[in-house]
Amino acid sequence: MNLLDGAVLPKDGEKTADFVIVGSGPAGSAVARAVARAGASVLVVEEGPLRKPSDFHADSFQAMADLYRDLGGSLTRGPAPMPYLQGRVVGGTSVINGAISWRLPKDIHDQWCKADPALTLALPFDTLEALTDEMERELGIAPTDPAIAGTHNALFAKGAQALGIAHRPISRNVVQCQGSGGCLQGCRHGRKQSMDLTLLPQACEYGAEIMFNTKVLRIDHDHRRARGVLARSQGGGLWRLQARRAVVLAASAVQTPCLLWQSGLRHGPVGEGFQGHPGASAAGFFREPVHLWQGATQGHEGIGLRQEGLKFEVLGMDIGVAMTRLPGVGQELSRHLALLPHMAEWGCAVKAQARGTVRPSLLGRPVVRYQLTDADMAKTRKGLSILAQMLLAAGAERVHLGVHGGPTEITDPRQAQAFASEGPRDPRAYAMVLTHLFGTAAMGSDPARSVVGPDFGVHQLAQLYVADSSVFPSNTGVNPQTSILALASLCGQRLAAAG
Ligand SMILES: Cc1cc2nc3c(=O)[nH]c(=O)nc-3n(C[C@H](O)[C@H](O)[C@H](O)COP(=O)(O)OP(=O)(O)OC[C@H]3O[C@@H](n4cnc5c(N)ncnc54)[C@H](O)[C@@H]3O)c2cc1C
Repeated sequence: MNLLDGAVLPKDGEKTADFVIVGSGPAGSAVARAVARAGASVLVVEEGPLRKPSDFHADSFQAMADLYRDLGGSLTRGPAPMPYLQGRVVGGTSVINGAISWRLPKDIHDQWCKADPALTLALPFDTLEALTDEMERELGIAPTDPAIAGTHNALFAKGAQALGIAHRPISRNVVQCQGSGGCLQGCRHGRKQSMDLTLLPQACEYGAEIMFNTKVLRIDHDHRRARGVLARSQGGGLWRLQARRAVVLAASAVQTPCLLWQSGLRHGPVGEGFQGHPGASAAGFFREPVHLWQGATQGHEGIGLRQEGLKFEVLGMDIGVAMTRLPGVGQELSRHLALLPHMAEWGCAVKAQARGTVRPSLLGRPVVRYQLTDADMAKTRKGLSILAQMLLAAGAERVHLGVHGGPTEITDPRQAQAFASEGPRDPRAYAMVLTHLFGTAAMGSDPARSVVGPDFGVHQLAQLYVADSSVFPSNTGVNPQTSILALASLCGQRLAAAG
């Protein structure tokens, strides 16, 4: 790869390329490859470090310290703060994600187009499907092989089957998975087809350059068009990175609106409309060993309630994180520690209707305000109730939801069912996590109600584009990486064709 390490750049400097792309996650990588392939010169600027599979740690806490933003400790603000996780490394969050791959559902695309008919032409579904086909081929996306799925995933299938919930092996961007359960720490075997191993090296083969350990501070513009960006290298240099044709923001649905805001680009709902898929989980203890840290990290999913906004997944994790899910303190915790190999952990992702905001603080750090609605909490209770029923049906002797004020343990399916109506209503009682983020620079035809136009261009400024899931008009209810890749590829193709 053509690399420039900001850590060894103490002096100020300048560089010029046709396209300056901020962020090297799925969105930035897809745009970079598309425009570089068409012959344009490309500079990708990434705040995080460069890592190889041999650098990755088996231990989650070390992985969080090295690869996650804020050591994995980013929190939303509001009455019930919730962690939100993001990668900060070359390859972005694709390096530390579960590799679950979902095409953009047609029903979600239909909803977007119904709300704004201009999107029917701007984001033709057939084109997105063709771009997704290409990604599926290139990233080796295929259903999880039962040979490496492991007990954890097999039990999930049994539980979903018993409850009559449609389920299937998860399609993932992993080639020859070894079932080492380490997707969320970065795949040490290099089998996950994350951007650092796929689209970014390809973009570099076409001549793109990646400047890492370098943080973009703001967009350089003259109020009419974007000229480039101003960035700080980790070594302390101030870099003026000039774009002959366009600046493309692909810094994620949290950092992109902050960059717009900090650059004085606040026209329209910049940073409004933040949406996500908060996830809650349930732990079940089985008589037989489960070893939830072995097998495909996330190899099986329950999809039968997607239209209700609930999606169920296996949650593989390393032993250190699994321990944090154990109930009790003192002797009770010790008893559960001994039972750790028998624990399964399954999650539900909620297509929440809540909309939050993202703004930079005075120090420039993102502040995400987000509060789940009563309807979201009702969905969450239902999701946990179903997970508890699935765990019992698969053979768990007892289930722990870890909900403050809820039952300490569940051993009876009727108790599990009752949680949907009787579980606590207050979001503060729940331990939830956000990993899918959307909507903070939404696409639309009306500049008063959207931030980018149907061409991905920021309404307020020429030659400035947004390619990440900030542009999604809503959350999708499914894992977003593949949809982001499809939309960003389309953005890249259009930019390349614009000449
Ligand atoms: C733990 C976890 C598991 C997940 N599992 C899945 C899954 O299985 N399937 C799925 O579809 N999705 C999953 N996701 C979500 C998915 O990974 C993200 O939706 C996707 O990576 C977002 O792509 P992006 O390019 O918009 O942003 P990111 O991948 O977050 O990349 C943005 C990049 O921009 C960089 N950046 C930000 N600000 C600046 C700046 N100012 N200057 C320079 N660089 C900057 C960041 O460091 C980062 O590397 C998961 C997420 C997490 C956290």
